[in-house]
Amino acid sequence: MSTVPRPWRTDMLTIHCPWCGPRDETEFSYGGEADIARPAAPDGLSDAAWADYLFMRTNPKGWHCEQWNHAHGCRRWFKAERHTVTYEIRVTWPMHREQP
Ligand SMILES: [Zn+2]
Repeated sequence: MSTVPRPWRTDMLTIHCPWCGPRDETEFSYGGEADIARPAAPDGLSDAAWADYLFMRTNPKGWHCEQWNHAHGCRRWFKAERHTVTYEIRVTWPMHREQP
């Protein structure tokens, strides 16, 4: 095997779609933080509380539960636990199921 770097080689992520299996990250769309609960009675919220629901996210340094869509594949949504520093994805699972 040659040790010469291939010019087309990238550090592209491989994401495991729960239905299609491992695919390049270019097939997926990021959907933001998972498990953001919509307020039961949004009319009763203050503007600040509504803005908090709409815009404020945890943005942790470490493991993070996210929503992803296999946009250029089966088009299904799923959840993934991804490390925000290393980009490692250690598990993915369908939206309607509990985290394995
Ligand atoms: Zn898929």
